[in-house]
Amino acid sequence: MKVVKFGGSSLADAGMMRRAADILKEDPERRFAVVSAPGKRFAEDIKITDMLLQADAEYRSGKDPSGTLSCVKQRFLELTEQLNVPLDIESEFEIIQQQMKKQSGSSYLASRGEYLSAKIFALLTDRPFIDAADLIVFNENHFLNEAETYRISREVLFGFAEGVIPGFYGRAEDGGIMTFSRGGSDVTGSITARAVKADLYENWTDVEGIMSADPRIIDHPRPVKYISYRELRELSYMGASVLHEDAVFPLKNTGIPIRVCSTMNPEAEGTYIMAKYPVDRMSHPVTGIAGKKGFSNLQIEKAMMNAEIGFGARVLNIIASHGISYEHTPTSIDIISVIAETAYLEAHRNEIITEIDEAVHPDRIFIQDGMALVAVVGEGISANVGVAASVLQSIADAGINVRMIDAGCSELNIIIGVGEDDYEKTIHALYHGLYKYF
Ligand code: ASP
Repeated sequence: MKVVKFGGSSLADAGMMRRAADILKEDPERRFAVVSAPGKRFAEDIKITDMLLQADAEYRSGKDPSGTLSCVKQRFLELTEQLNVPLDIESEFEIIQQQMKKQSGSSYLASRGEYLSAKIFALLTDRPFIDAADLIVFNENHFLNEAETYRISREVLFGFAEGVIPGFYGRAEDGGIMTFSRGGSDVTGSITARAVKADLYENWTDVEGIMSADPRIIDHPRPVKYISYRELRELSYMGASVLHEDAVFPLKNTGIPIRVCSTMNPEAEGTYIMAKYPVDRMSHPVTGIAGKKGFSNLQIEKAMMNAEIGFGARVLNIIASHGISYEHTPTSIDIISVIAETAYLEAHRNEIITEIDEAVHPDRIFIQDGMALVAVVGEGISANVGVAASVLQSIADAGINVRMIDAGCSELNIIIGVGEDDYEKTIHALYHGLYKYF
């Protein structure tokens, strides 16, 4: 049995909804469908969820949201007319306008895109609509109440052979509606797949799976056929995002693979995200390369630092007390570096320097901005002789200066810090230099 999720771009207009309906019906194993709100139909278009959030912001600031809401209504009217499905959009919007005044947070309005999208898709595919508010529950701290969610979703879904479920939201403690963070329909899909013990969770989107490098930098990078959950997390964290980062957690210990595939090209196999790797990691040690700009290096130097107990702890406590999360702390005998996003450090830099100065009396302390981090990710890296050498050789051959190397205790990645101006060049050098390892 399969659970499928269609993203907003796969449901953006009537033509796309029909295409998604065909994909669903074509395979009888595709029993439960989770849907997003309709996304952009063209580059300058606005996603339904963005319009709903705008309407909510207008309402909350005392402005009249009816203009924005009527644009949303118009899109749903077009969909029902073109698809010829009997959903009374006018009365749905009357209910939405009444409820909007009763519910406290922004989530209610934001969730209505998924709600209506699922109602329409259910009618189009002739399957029952199952409300996510009856399946997914959040606790008082706004986190998913896992135990209760799996208990009730199993109970409810057991009563259905198939169905269409709106993504992105569930029920809050107070009985109102609560959403996940943006892109959260991916998480609804994972939860559903786990609840019904699916054999596969298919995530239909507008890209043909995960690419081994950023297609905006590398022309037609090699698609990734298999990726482990851990590798996906590393690559997504470093900017290669195709799935919501929380979508992996519900499935991690279940063995249910996720297939990321494209509604635009259903024949393409896409990428399988799985716990166990079906290919030989020794012949394919590297899975992908990803990276991000915008990092700073806070460097603290003091002679005999290695003998001073608690030095590192004092430095990191100061960073933590400013609410800053850091990425890496490479050290040498008398130097400790803290690599963090420049945006986080920005507002606190002077205080941090003063506080560290007072706490540990360094010989030298400074912040160097303009660093990009590039990660080479692959479960087979640690066991394979020569990958690290090729990483550094490829970068050296391209004449790029390495500012930092972190070979990670995770044995899963090698992270290189380079100047932001060298970022694209580094990705090119690594992609071509490591090609034989993919
Ligand atoms: N519609 C929501 C968003 O745009 C959730 C989703 O599509 O997954 O973020």
